[in-house]
Amino acid sequence: MGLFTKMFGTYSERQIKKLKKTLNMIDDPKRVERYKNMSDEELASQTVILKERLLNGETLDMILPDAFCVVREADDRVLGKRPFKVQMIGGIILHQGRVAEMKTGEGKTLTATLPAYLNALSGNSVHIVTVNEYLARMGAEEMGRVYDFLGLKTGLILSGQTNEEKTAAYSCDIIYGTNNEFGFDYLRDNLVSDKSARVQRDMSFAIIDEVDSILIDEARTPLIISGFKNVTNDMYEKADNIARRMKVLVVKELDAKTSLEEVAKDSGADYVVDEKARNAVLTAKGIEMVEKEFSLENFADEQNAEIAHHINLAIRARGVMKRDVDYMVDEEEGAVLIIDSFTGRIMPGRRYADGLHQAIEAKERVSIQKEDRTVATITFQNFFRLYKKLSGMTGTALTEEEEFKEIYALDVVEIPTNLPMIRIDHPDNVYKSISGKYTAIVRQIKACREKGQPVLIGTASVEKSEELHRILLKEGIKHEVLNAKNHKREAEIVAGAGKRGAVTIATNMAGRGTDILLGGNPEFMAKQKMRALEYPEEIIAVVAGKSLSVSDEVKEARRVYSEYFEAFKKEIQPEYEFVKSVGGLFIIGTERHESRRVDNQFRGRSGRQGDPGESRFYVSFEDDLLRIYGGERMAAVYNTLMGRVGYDESVPVSGEGSAISPKILTSLIENCQKRLEGHNFRIRKNVLEYDDVINQQRRIIYDQRNEVLDDSDFHEKILAMIRETVEDAVDLYCGDDDPREWNLDALRTHFYGTLFRDEDLRYSEEELVALDFKRFKKELVERAVNKYESKAKTPEQYEILKKHERRVLLHFVDDNWIDNIDAMDDLRGTVQLQSFAQRKPIDEYRIVAQDMFDDMITNIRESTVRTLLMLEFATEPVKAPSGVTITEMANGIKAARARAKRMTVRRHSSPGASSGDKQEPVRREKTPGPNDPCSCGSGKKYKKCCGARGSES
Ligand code: ADP
Ligand code: MG
Repeated sequence: MGLFTKMFGTYSERQIKKLKKTLNMIDDPKRVERYKNMSDEELASQTVILKERLLNGETLDMILPDAFCVVREADDRVLGKRPFKVQMIGGIILHQGRVAEMKTGEGKTLTATLPAYLNALSGNSVHIVTVNEYLARMGAEEMGRVYDFLGLKTGLILSGQTNEEKTAAYSCDIIYGTNNEFGFDYLRDNLVSDKSARVQRDMSFAIIDEVDSILIDEARTPLIISGFKNVTNDMYEKADNIARRMKVLVVKELDAKTSLEEVAKDSGADYVVDEKARNAVLTAKGIEMVEKEFSLENFADEQNAEIAHHINLAIRARGVMKRDVDYMVDEEEGAVLIIDSFTGRIMPGRRYADGLHQAIEAKERVSIQKEDRTVATITFQNFFRLYKKLSGMTGTALTEEEEFKEIYALDVVEIPTNLPMIRIDHPDNVYKSISGKYTAIVRQIKACREKGQPVLIGTASVEKSEELHRILLKEGIKHEVLNAKNHKREAEIVAGAGKRGAVTIATNMAGRGTDILLGGNPEFMAKQKMRALEYPEEIIAVVAGKSLSVSDEVKEARRVYSEYFEAFKKEIQPEYEFVKSVGGLFIIGTERHESRRVDNQFRGRSGRQGDPGESRFYVSFEDDLLRIYGGERMAAVYNTLMGRVGYDESVPVSGEGSAISPKILTSLIENCQKRLEGHNFRIRKNVLEYDDVINQQRRIIYDQRNEVLDDSDFHEKILAMIRETVEDAVDLYCGDDDPREWNLDALRTHFYGTLFRDEDLRYSEEELVALDFKRFKKELVERAVNKYESKAKTPEQYEILKKHERRVLLHFVDDNWIDNIDAMDDLRGTVQLQSFAQRKPIDEYRIVAQDMFDDMITNIRESTVRTLLMLEFATEPVKAPSGVTITEMANGIKAARARAKRMTVRRHSSPGASSGDKQEPVRREKTPGPNDPCSCGSGKKYKKCCGARGSES
């Protein structure tokens, strides 16, 4: 601690000091007494009173002390849990829209009831966001009793619910759900074609539980809704059949100095895997092999791009993606499931993008899913920034303070623990080899077991947890394994993990939202007993409470429960004392994780609520972290330490019982982690930079869509679109001063079948000369509007027309937008592969993206107008006169659009040739900015040259 912090306290301490006045009001004995003495009914009626105070002009901050007192009282009466002072502090910080760092076991779930209730009084909804559905359900069920008691409604959002269920849930005051589901609902709401199909209400206030997990760990994978491309593709299998036979060389890192061929020289490898970059690259030998297999002239030719793409995916799937680390194979379902590297949980429904998932399916020989196409996408960063107020809580946020501030404008306040923390965090034990390390870990587990001290062993992957499981089996050590493969027993395994002598192996999934009690969990045991006695879940959820206004059935259940609870507690009490006396839960980390935060999260499973505990990480020089990210200093340390002969590898080089100070290595290891954290932060920032570009576009499109859906009289807007389209076309084709130069043929073609037929726009020389630009334009606009207005001849037809207007516009908006998302994906890939003389790839991306967006908007307008002008109320209302149906036409336009897009992208993939590029779409030429040089080549500014006439009219 620096001098400054010693003198003035830490940032968090200063922030908490500022809450003193509010806290004094909350704990004012008179106020506390008043609420304590209220009957259940009286307490519940405070909700109405507080709402009235808001209506009479008081602010949320002004009613906060009373609202918090009401919730504290209700929590106590309904759940039997009275929020501690530190929970009140956490509640205020959340209400203020900040991140509250509260250690594991401090009761964050309960804390959230305070700001949730307060903010819901305003009539806006409060979203409580959790990392998984189990926690959302638990939160909604348990905390929902409190809100219900106070007269507020609780909603629960789950995947797979119907629209009706969701709409009902979102109409509640306080809504629990996962980050994924809130995000997907947002995206889906922006894909509906009728406003009644929307489910979400407002995005006012979100409280994110385990906020670091959601806003940081998950920030690298955006949410994607995909549809299927209608193609099946056997290329994945073909490519995998080749990759399967290829020889691989794995290196730590490919550096820029040594060429790939040099690296692979003696190995005879067909491809090289770079562990650090998680990348696989073909060597010349590998390329030759592919050329032979596919009989290609030259692998690098553009027409072979498809093959190259699939081969690259196949070697990546084989060389980089590891089974039971990155993904799991569900043999029964024949499916490849992604494992979340941070939580160790399966991510249901998620797939790797750009064909990688299919390549893995080919590798694992399960059935290959159809390729998908992104229909809608958003990153969590941009999704959560949509909320008017955002707050979060977690046990570990301080290490990521900078990112919260920079990306989300959230500051982190560390809330003190309710009871002093007495867990001992030992310095790392460092070993030469992984096998030596495991020997030492087994020794430690045995020592704990002998004492009766429970031990929780964390592993970084499913694969490692199974490896350790086999070792312990061999050693005859009884234990439980908790990983993505048996998460169904999670609650049970966790409830037993603190018992005397318990040995539990867990991937870091145990790090989130679960609570390990020493000696056993009497609440869990009593509730299990109630379940065995077939009490319904609704009753079990409230059996721990004490409010009086409940049914006799609940009262009776409570009596039974409290008997069991007391009995189990009595039974457990000596066990609890025993486990405490042998040091509490011992946490063994089998390797350091990518970030210090995840390590801290894992340590936090022990030492909750003032309990004793210990933690130690076991590290070896063969661990990926040290091997790949250790750098030269680590290598130097290794060489010095390992010079000795006859070394017992299960004796730590540094740490417990070693002469070398553990500080040096621990700080070296933490430096590796910091470097990796920085690296990952940069990746996330990069993802965000690119998403920000799409985000602006997405907001425009979604706003427009909502306007289309919400506006009851939309007809005027369509008329304006028609006018604009005709005006633009006339400007484009009839730009010359001399009407004889006008390209009337092109104008006719442009509106052929909608406004013009063969005989239109045919003038004699004299007639031509007499044409006046302004009048000509005005007449055409009128003609178009009249033609359109005269389509509907009866009020009924007018109604039908209005319906079609909406449908047609939405169709083109969605279709173009989805194509645009796809094209933006391609563009990102392209710019990242190129280096541009002056610009950074992201800037290039921005510029081209803007062009593409402008093109898209014009395209939407033109297609819509064209289609609507073709509508005819004949036998079939949606048939164009020529017999072309709307969809057929849309497909035609889509194909044209796709061609244009490919051109745009390709144009930028060869920057050298772009200057005199003749392929540039014509439309772009007419839109220089007013101060840009005119496109006619006169050298004058556009507004003074060709642009001048445009602005007159
Ligand atoms: P966290 O999410 O902070 O790790 P939880 O919300 O899971 O903690 O709470 C841990 C345990 O503490 C739960 O069993 C919860 O019911 C209990 N708990 C929380 N607050 C209180 C309180 N004020 N009094 C008694 N028990 C509480
Ligand atoms: Mg929690």
